Amino acid sequence: MIEIEDNVKKIPVLADVDVLVVGGGPSGISAAIAAAREGMKVLLMERFGFFGGTITQSMVGTIGWYRFAKTVEAGGIYLEFERRAEEMGAVVNKFNKNLMNTEMGLYFQKKGLIKDGKFTHAVLNTELFKILADRMIEEARVIPLLHSMAVNVLKDGNTLKGVITESKSGRNVILAKRVIDATGDADIAFKAGAPFRKDPREKLLGITLNFSVSGVDIEEFFSWFIKKVQEKPRLLSCLKITGELFFMDEISCLLEPLEDLKKGIKVPTHIKVKDFWNSYSEGGEIFSFNGIHMGNIDCTDIKDLTKAEIEGRKRVIQALKKLRKRVPGFQKARLKNFGFSIGTRESRKILGEYELTEQDVTNQAQFADSIGICPEFMDGYGRLILPTTGRYFQVPYRIMLPKNIENLLVVGRAVAGDKISHATTRQMVCCAITGQAAGIASAVSIKEKVTSRNVNMFHVQKVLMEKGIRIS
Ligand SMILES: Cc1cc2nc3c(=O)[nH]c(=O)nc-3n(C[C@H](O)[C@H](O)[C@H](O)COP(=O)(O)OP(=O)(O)OC[C@H]3O[C@@H](n4cnc5c(N)ncnc54)[C@H](O)[C@@H]3O)c2cc1C
Repeated sequence: MIEIEDNVKKIPVLADVDVLVVGGGPSGISAAIAAAREGMKVLLMERFGFFGGTITQSMVGTIGWYRFAKTVEAGGIYLEFERRAEEMGAVVNKFNKNLMNTEMGLYFQKKGLIKDGKFTHAVLNTELFKILADRMIEEARVIPLLHSMAVNVLKDGNTLKGVITESKSGRNVILAKRVIDATGDADIAFKAGAPFRKDPREKLLGITLNFSVSGVDIEEFFSWFIKKVQEKPRLLSCLKITGELFFMDEISCLLEPLEDLKKGIKVPTHIKVKDFWNSYSEGGEIFSFNGIHMGNIDCTDIKDLTKAEIEGRKRVIQALKKLRKRVPGFQKARLKNFGFSIGTRESRKILGEYELTEQDVTNQAQFADSIGICPEFMDGYGRLILPTTGRYFQVPYRIMLPKNIENLLVVGRAVAGDKISHATTRQMVCCAITGQAAGIASAVSIKEKVTSRNVNMFHVQKVLMEKGIRIS
């Protein structure tokens, strides 16, 4: 450690707003729009040059991929994302017609995941989602602020008064009556000194560098793929449980830790490589290979992040070489793009006024302070529960309330809960539900001149229900 004197005595005020939302992912966009629709002056800030968070940074367009016929949901702004994306042609929902009569296609149809040759959920075109997010933010009259990183907080005792930002314009302060931390990593809660937990890196969910390719002969590839599906029951079981077009077994054999990579670079033995893709175009593109996974990375450690980005890119190139050589249809495949940034799944979780538990998720928990319902759906830590049954649990307001700090709500994947419940709360729908509720609760608390902690839940729930959100 070295000590340096920070000689900045006065920091210019960039804005003074009712609600400041930090982080423009699914939870942050929902929070900002919801608060603005309640008449608040809202600023949504984001460290990168576009909104969307993991959707646009890591090309993850499958916000509602688990939506089976019997799935019960809260509804709200995440459904608007899907509906608006459909309206502007920014979806890639088509299910390959040649797969329709395979066992997989028939299974998906029976469970209501495919109808009329299409997935029933919208698979977002993640590039166009940048435009959609801009539009929805503009329509709600949210003030957008891009290329701005929140680096510190302004507090009066334990009450949050604003956030300090760094950007090309230098250091600025944004004053706010309420702050919503939608950074995914609870950056604001952390800077404010709120208690949190973070597992050691070896216990965190892996991170992923997604990539897309072009130049694939889709017909040739699918002929091969269908044959594989018919030949390999184990492959089919993967297909069944994930609801994705998925060829994990086959490609993971091809891409398991590569000897040539091992020679030059230290490849930790726990790195697993598996592959699937979300969508494709008739023109020969396959988007968003969600396959280059790396473990033992703490995404709040800048050295780990740097290592993972560089290692991830090497692995993508190696993977592509193998695909070209071994998978029919991929002979002329080229890299289209890497995800804009590595995709991360787990880091800091606040210690909240309530810690959601695995039992809450799996036992249809009910709470007096419910802000929405989430289907019983889990994906992580080796657990996969798909919401095919209609079971759901209520999401309590208190998981967004950090201990000790006033007028701060934490939304998205950093909400309070035990390890296993994170396999549910990290899902984008749940993130958007907490975001939307935090936006509304912040507005109600400002109007009624009480802190975020003391907001009248009955009033918050009333507004949520008026918006058509199901809370029980
Ligand atoms: C590869 C991958 C695949 C996934 N697949 C699915 C899926 O199919 N379905 C699903 O539901 N979920 C999926 N997830 C999980 C889901 O995408 C995330 O958990 C979810 O996006 C989290 O939403 P969020 O709003 O909390 O955070 P994020 O989406 O991470 O958004 C946080 C935003 O805050 C910004 N930010 C962070 N720190 C600061 C700061 N200090 N100052 C300013 N801005 C900041 C970031 O740039 C980012 O835009 C996947 C995740 C990954 C990585």
